[in-house]
Amino acid sequence: AKQQGRAGFCLFTPELGAQWQERHGLEWDLRRALAGGQFRLEYQPLVCLASGRVLGAEALLRWHRPGHGEIPPDQFIGLAEEIGLIGPIGAWVLQEACREAAGWPAPLGIAVNVSPLQFRLPDLYGTVKAALQQAGLAPERLELEITEGILMRDTRETLEVLCRLRDLGVRLAMDDFGTGYSSLGYLNRFAFDKIKIDRSFVRHLTNDPKAKAVVHAVMGLSQTLGIRAHAEGVENDEQAELLRQEGCEEVQGYLYGRPMPPQQFATLFRQAS
Ligand code: C2E
Ligand code: CA
Ligand code: CA
Ligand code: CA
Repeated sequence: AKQQGRAGFCLFTPELGAQWQERHGLEWDLRRALAGGQFRLEYQPLVCLASGRVLGAEALLRWHRPGHGEIPPDQFIGLAEEIGLIGPIGAWVLQEACREAAGWPAPLGIAVNVSPLQFRLPDLYGTVKAALQQAGLAPERLELEITEGILMRDTRETLEVLCRLRDLGVRLAMDDFGTGYSSLGYLNRFAFDKIKIDRSFVRHLTNDPKAKAVVHAVMGLSQTLGIRAHAEGVENDEQAELLRQEGCEEVQGYLYGRPMPPQQFATLFRQAS
C-alpha cells in the first residue's frame, strides 16, 4: 500500500472491485431500507450516578439488512449522509423516538442523535416540532445529541437553528466530547445543557493518567459553565467510582444497561419506580 501511495495513483485491483461492489450493494439496500420498514430503535438507559435512577434513554438506530443481518450504525450513517438519505432517516428516528417516549411517565426523557448534516437541510426545526406535536411529547423531554463537528461549519445558520430549537424548549447535548476539535468557547456560546464525555476517555480512566486528566478537566469545565456532565461507556464499578469522585452527574454504559428494545426498557423503568 505504501508503494502505491508513493507512485501517486492506484491500480484497480480485484480487491478494489469487490469493495466497490460491496459499497454499491450497501447503497442499493440502504435506499430501500426506510420504505421496507427495516429500521428500528433500541433504547439505552441514562442513569443518575448518585441515585441510580433511570432518567431516560438514548435512541440508537438499528438496521436489519435482508440477507446480511444487523448492520451497526457506524457502518451506514456515513453512507446515508453521503447519498442524501440522512434527512428522511433522521426524520423517521425523531418521529419514532418521540412517539415511543410519549408513552413513558414524565419526566423520563429521550435523547436522539442528530447528524451535523441534518442542520444543513432546509427544515430541521420543522421536523423536530412536528415530531413532538404528533407524539404529544413536551419539548423539555427531548434532547438532541450533536457532535462537535457541527460547530466547525455554517456557524451562523447552525446557531440560528440551535437557538430556535432552544426557544422551543428542546435540550441540547454535546456528544463525543473531547474527540473533535475541542470547542470550549462554543459550548458556552451555543448554550448546551449537557456534555457527554466520549467513551474513549472513560475506557482508560482507571489505567491512563492522561484520560483521567481529561475527564478531570471536562468536569471542571462543566462546573464552571454550569453544564451537566455525562459519561458514556461506563462498563465497571471502578470507572463509576472515579466518575462519582469527579462529580459526574449522569452515566450510560453496559454497567447500567445495553441498548434494548422498547418493551424491555419499559420493564426496566417500571421495576425501578
Ligand atoms: P454514540 O452516539 O456515541 O452512541 C453510543 C454508542 O456506544 C452506541 O453504539 C452504544 O451501543 C455504545 N455503547 C454504549 N454503552 C457502551 C459501553 O459501555 N461500552 C461500549 N463498548 N459501547 C457502548 P451504536 O448503537 O453502535 O451507535 C454507534 C454510533 O452511531 C452512535 O454513537 C452515533 O454516533 C451513531 N448513531 C446511532 N443511532 C443514530 C441515529 O439515529 N442518528 C445518527 N445520526 N447517528 C446515530
Ligand atoms: Ca449519542
Ligand atoms: Ca457518544
Ligand atoms: Ca459516536
